[in-house]
Amino acid sequence: MPDCLFCKIINGEIPSDKVYEDEIIFAFKDINPKAPVHLLIIPKKHYPTLNDIPDDEMGIIAEIHNVIKKLAHEFGVAESGYRVLTNVNREGGQVVFHVHYHLIGGRQLPT
Ligand code: AMP
Ligand code: ZN
Repeated sequence: MPDCLFCKIINGEIPSDKVYEDEIIFAFKDINPKAPVHLLIIPKKHYPTLNDIPDDEMGIIAEIHNVIKKLAHEFGVAESGYRVLTNVNREGGQVVFHVHYHLIGGRQLPT
């Protein structure tokens, strides 16, 4: 998607601090971290929001969570704890309209 920030990050047009990549998933450090560990995990395929993923393509969400689990170990927060979240549309707090999951940890998060 030409005007999408995260598509540009995936294709290298915009630099990022990459932490993981495979054929279908890309992950990088959030530019404005809310905690010592703040990673963004995204599908390479452009879907604006979770609502836009067809039922028969929802397997990508399991793949994303599998990468999140691996990254949580790699970044040392698997045992201490971490938060996984995705914001959907405006009132959900979504700012970048390319599906992404936040992995946040490394400090006590509010309940
Ligand atoms: P959301 O509010 O869920 O759409 O989150 C978008 C996230 O993208 C925010 O946490 C931003 O800090 C992050 N972000 C925006 N631009 C960049 C960028 N160029 N590189 C890394 N993270 C970014
Ligand atoms: Zn995109």
